Amino acid sequence: MPEQHDYDAIIIGAGAAGLMAGIHAAERGRRVLLLEKARKPGVKILMSGGTRCNITHDCDNRGIVAAFGANGKFLHSALAGFGPRDVVAFFQGEGVATKIEDTGKIFPISDRALDVLNALLRRLERSGVTPALSEPVRDVQPLTGGGFRVSTEKRSLTTAKVIVTTGGLSFPGCGTTGDGYGFARQFGHTIVPTRPALVPLTTQPAWVKNLQGITMPDITLKVFGEGPKPLTSRRGSVLFAHFGLTGPAPLDVSRAVSGHPQPATLVLEVDLLPDLSEPQFDSFVQAETLAHGKQLLAVVLAGKIPRRIADQILTLCDLPTDRKSAALSKIDRQKIVSTVKHLRIPLRGTLGYEKAEVTAGGVCLDEVDSRTMQSKRMPHLYFAGEVLDLDGWIGGYNFQSAWSTGRQAGLQV
Ligand SMILES: Cc1cc2nc3c(=O)[nH]c(=O)nc-3n(C[C@H](O)[C@H](O)[C@H](O)COP(=O)(O)OP(=O)(O)OC[C@H]3O[C@@H](n4cnc5c(N)ncnc54)[C@H](O)[C@@H]3O)c2cc1C
Repeated sequence: MPEQHDYDAIIIGAGAAGLMAGIHAAERGRRVLLLEKARKPGVKILMSGGTRCNITHDCDNRGIVAAFGANGKFLHSALAGFGPRDVVAFFQGEGVATKIEDTGKIFPISDRALDVLNALLRRLERSGVTPALSEPVRDVQPLTGGGFRVSTEKRSLTTAKVIVTTGGLSFPGCGTTGDGYGFARQFGHTIVPTRPALVPLTTQPAWVKNLQGITMPDITLKVFGEGPKPLTSRRGSVLFAHFGLTGPAPLDVSRAVSGHPQPATLVLEVDLLPDLSEPQFDSFVQAETLAHGKQLLAVVLAGKIPRRIADQILTLCDLPTDRKSAALSKIDRQKIVSTVKHLRIPLRGTLGYEKAEVTAGGVCLDEVDSRTMQSKRMPHLYFAGEVLDLDGWIGGYNFQSAWSTGRQAGLQV
């Protein structure tokens, strides 16, 4: 490549995608500058997975694609080059041994996100990338003879190619304030409306607060709007919080809530016992209340659900929490069963971008070549990571997308 520009490639944003792109571009001998707005690179890597960094998921490429819904097919090509097994091998090669947890999430054995980031930074240094921290990109302009002028507050640089890896809008304190969307728009790209995803849900009823601190490892959540069909549903664990619900299942359904024009009209329906059908649970309650008439009804229910939730279910069914099991009418029994299987919680919304792990929406995938990550609007402009209209379930899928697309872009420049 002729040295008519200051750099062969400038990468904007040193998160998961940008670091991976830089490594793969520089290892091919390219002169690469990695510009990062924050004082440190990879801030989200450090805070991810409760500072343990869930780097990917134990599944095949199809499993990753499925986690991204209809847009997942965009990832086929990038995953074919760098799937979950390759990610594990990459970090293994850098001295980070990994483990698979029961949920399928893959973490470093050390449980230290810092080890993941340090491995990337070591490899970045070996690759020869020039990193520049605390240097946000303000502007990207095309040059008439080809290439781009990239401007920061400190300097103005020319480059043959640009990779935009600026992430989304979530956790804006980390430096992710949606700058990449502006760069993309400038080159004629459509931005699919953004909204917070993988974000805790806020709820309306005051009683939810009484359940604060309770974790249920296996429940099913359905989000209902006006129609009879749920907008989305997910099975997994949930944690009751003072503001509403958090944990994997609420986070996974949250994009449907934040994407709705009137989230406060939505209702969350919770099946607290997804492994038991209504008739099975009904038989359980009937048999137990008959056999243990002197026992509190709440204690019988506590055989299946946490006691504090059992008390709340009784209150919702207009039954006193100190009611004994004896002589439970069929109507009251059915009310209890129905409430446990279809606990309805009117929603308020979500905690917003401040607490969203990812951003849904972004650079429209139709306008990016999925084999190269190159813009179809502007030659030699590339996008990778969360700035794209890609958001997956919780469980390591989002990093997998960032690693794969970042690498793919890095290999092209
Ligand atoms: C609390 C939390 C926990 C998470 N846990 C997990 C997890 O365990 N597993 C998982 O798969 N995913 C997790 N995620 C999601 C994951 O962090 C993101 O999907 C991933 O970081 C996206 O990578 P990225 O490189 O595209 O963007 P980012 O990591 O967001 O990086 C973008 C970078 O660009 C920089 N930047 C922005 N604008 C400019 C500019 N104008 N000039 C220069 N630099 C700029 C930003 O400062 C930032 O460093 C978590 C997210 C959060 C917030």
